[in-house]
Amino acid sequence: MASWSLLRALRRFIPQVSREAARGAGGIGRSYRRGCSNGTGCKPRTSRLEEVTQCKTNHFDAVIVGGGHNGLVAAAYLARAGMKPLVLEQRDVLGGAAVSEEIVPGYVFSRASYLYSLFHPDIVRDLELETKYGLTLYPRDPSSFSPLLDGSGYLLFSRDVRETQRSIASFSERDALMYPKYEHKLERIMEGLVKPLMERSPVQLSRMSWSDMRFVARMVLACWKHRSDLPDALQLLLAPAEKVLRQYFESEPLLSTLATDALIGTMTAPSQPGSGYVLLHHVAGESKGVKGAWSYVRGGMGALSNAIAFSAQAHGATLVTGAAVQEICFDDHSGMALGVRLQDGSEIRTERVISNADAKTTFLKLCAGASASRAGVFSSEFLDRIRALDFRSPVLKINAALNAVPEFRATASSNLNGKERRATIHLGCSSLEELNHAFHEASTKNAQPSTWPMIEMTIPSELDDSLAPPGHAVAGLFVQFAPYDADWDSPGFKEAYCNHIFSIVDQYAPGFSDSIVGYEALSPRDLERTFGLHGGNIFHGSMSLDQVYSFRPVLEASAYTTPAKRLYLCGSSSHPGGGVSGMPGKFCAERVLAERRM
Ligand SMILES: Cc1cc2nc3c(=O)[nH]c(=O)nc-3n(C[C@H](O)[C@H](O)[C@H](O)COP(=O)(O)OP(=O)(O)OC[C@H]3O[C@@H](n4cnc5c(N)ncnc54)[C@H](O)[C@@H]3O)c2cc1C
Repeated sequence: MASWSLLRALRRFIPQVSREAARGAGGIGRSYRRGCSNGTGCKPRTSRLEEVTQCKTNHFDAVIVGGGHNGLVAAAYLARAGMKPLVLEQRDVLGGAAVSEEIVPGYVFSRASYLYSLFHPDIVRDLELETKYGLTLYPRDPSSFSPLLDGSGYLLFSRDVRETQRSIASFSERDALMYPKYEHKLERIMEGLVKPLMERSPVQLSRMSWSDMRFVARMVLACWKHRSDLPDALQLLLAPAEKVLRQYFESEPLLSTLATDALIGTMTAPSQPGSGYVLLHHVAGESKGVKGAWSYVRGGMGALSNAIAFSAQAHGATLVTGAAVQEICFDDHSGMALGVRLQDGSEIRTERVISNADAKTTFLKLCAGASASRAGVFSSEFLDRIRALDFRSPVLKINAALNAVPEFRATASSNLNGKERRATIHLGCSSLEELNHAFHEASTKNAQPSTWPMIEMTIPSELDDSLAPPGHAVAGLFVQFAPYDADWDSPGFKEAYCNHIFSIVDQYAPGFSDSIVGYEALSPRDLERTFGLHGGNIFHGSMSLDQVYSFRPVLEASAYTTPAKRLYLCGSSSHPGGGVSGMPGKFCAERVLAERRM
């Protein structure tokens, strides 16, 4: 017992030790080189900042602040159109929140985002990511596994809807019959009414173009065509997820598993109005041509970012890491963006600046210097609207290296043979009441993380053998609700909470805690510090109805332009918002190219 406590105490130091060890031993670089031999984890060679700033003949058509996946997508499209973009990333690794890192030596993690589905297939094709730059996907089947706490059963979602129905029927025959109806309803609303909005840059309400007007007319026709679905679509937009779901289903494990789709990354509860439309997440993406399917990327999410980076580089983009931008500079008279000043004091002039950083970071930090105030490009009303944006985050992400794969009590006597581990594993959500309670605990004034949180566990090493040594595993625990204002930085607070989470997982999969070799836990504050995500918000601002489409991030900065000429936004603060979709990057590049032609 004593040695167990000692081990737990020591584990507190493991992440730091591990990271240093990984750096000191060149662990990260080594793993990428190893990955290169099988075409997965190759890392593009980035330039050093001095190489770029000291070469007087360098000229860049665009400087992109941030090498998140959207910044890289924007760079790739601009480079393919013949422009010379420069990407400046503050970290020493590209990808932003779509990144793979060897946090514990020998174990590679999708350190922040971990599932691929929203990324648009057109971008994969245009940038030749699968055919030329090594992107490899592992579609998951089953996709979702919710074990019961007492080990007496489980709910499993498989690609074959009849298998899913059989699993649902073990809780409710009626729900099993309703499930395909629910899926088809969401699919019809998604395809007919929502996707057309997502697949185009938003209508600029303040200055509608002919193309915008034609699109509005098309949407009016679409509404007419899908008029029988309109009442349900409106209800999805406005109602609490709980209300929407209860119209279809009665069994709590199913209700709560589906409700997690509406809560991921968002400070909301199933009982909150407006949570309903995020249920569309369930059918939003696609992977390998399968609608609604979520995949793992071989080598972790960083392999996707690296594939985009290779594609951008091959067409002439320059990528620099370790280059933190301090300030975006403007012309005093015209108010146009002129370039950037870096933290080391160097300056880079360019034709246009494109920010991949979130809206609060861009306008309240990078545009808060003397240059922007001299140029007077941002009104105080505009800045107040940016300040008022909801960037609350409920997310704690734990990345754990394991010396054994978790065995779930609920499947001990099943014939699944561990295939449930490929799925997203839902823990701590056996009823809607539990989810509502978890939210309410964390949203009170004293901001404590939920005592019985919603946990989404993934074990990508079950399908991807490049992540962990044989017989070992990497697991991600995406934990909600963990508010930004909790005491994360007080000594021992985060570790104690992580141990609490591990003890919850132990109740579903005995021995989980004992199998942990090392881990890191990223609170909302850590997400902010590590990835530059303001408030730790994983989507660059909440995806609430008042912050989507033409209102994303705010009306005056929607459609990738900003109040400052030649300053653009290409990150997830822009439509269609958060998630690894690449769409803000693509749409922004299209906007830049269109304005360049004018
Ligand atoms: C824990 C977590 C889990 C998630 N899970 C998923 C998932 O499974 N699937 C999914 O689709 N989405 C997921 N998401 C959301 C998704 O990862 C993000 O919405 C998306 O990656 C954001 O991409 P981006 O390129 O817009 O911005 P970012 O990835 O945030 O990139 C912005 C980049 O700008 C850089 N930067 C900022 N300021 C400066 C500066 N001053 N100078 C230089 N560089 C700067 C940052 O370092 C960063 O690299 C998750 C996010 C998190 C945090």
